[in-house]
Amino acid sequence: MNASASYLFPPPAVVSVPVRGVQARFAVHRVYCVGRNYEEHAKEMGFTGREPPFFFLKPADAVVVAEAGETASVPYPSLTANLHHEIELVVAIGKGGRHIAVAEALSHVYGYAVGLDMTRRDLQNDMKKQGRPWCIGKAFDHSAPIAPITPASELPHIAQAAIALTVNGAPRQASHIHKLIWNVAETIAHLSAAWELQAGDLIYTGTPEGVAAVQAGDLLHGTIDGLDELRIRIV
Ligand code: MN
Repeated sequence: MNASASYLFPPPAVVSVPVRGVQARFAVHRVYCVGRNYEEHAKEMGFTGREPPFFFLKPADAVVVAEAGETASVPYPSLTANLHHEIELVVAIGKGGRHIAVAEALSHVYGYAVGLDMTRRDLQNDMKKQGRPWCIGKAFDHSAPIAPITPASELPHIAQAAIALTVNGAPRQASHIHKLIWNVAETIAHLSAAWELQAGDLIYTGTPEGVAAVQAGDLLHGTIDGLDELRIRIV
């Protein structure tokens, strides 16, 4: 691109996530999400048995960053009466690649964060029934809250971590990362066969059972052992 290029209007702002202990921020390229990646959640959605992982995307500017120690505001979205929470481990890619082997995959991970795959479940279900794309149920504005990233080098036991979500202090979701049907390395291998991963990509790895609706005013508190907590309020 020509360095002296001019634009008709200001180009989009860079979306970025803070990193624990590091001054530089993680600039977001794409947001990938894995569907039905915990057995008990697949069952609650009406599916059984292991199937190959499948993916959908959210736009990078759907990311809502909860800065360290802060509670981010997430507007209750339009067109839905059934906004669901999905607490998820987010993988932050630091080195891109295509057809990445499982054995090499973790060397492409920069770090991890707590994220929420917010879902307009009524719209997603309508689209499923009609065989139409999930975009309106999944890829809406403000649909990808995330807490600060922790470098992978500080997280040798992330695969054993507990993951949990409370709403207004009441437990909603609780599981363990080792219950992922497709683990982080396998997910990266599958994903990179379909798209060329790039530094800056985020991967929301799927949610455990217990998804349910939230209302305006609710405070959501997501935790994964070893990671910065995620706090958002629906407004
Ligand atoms: Mn999800």
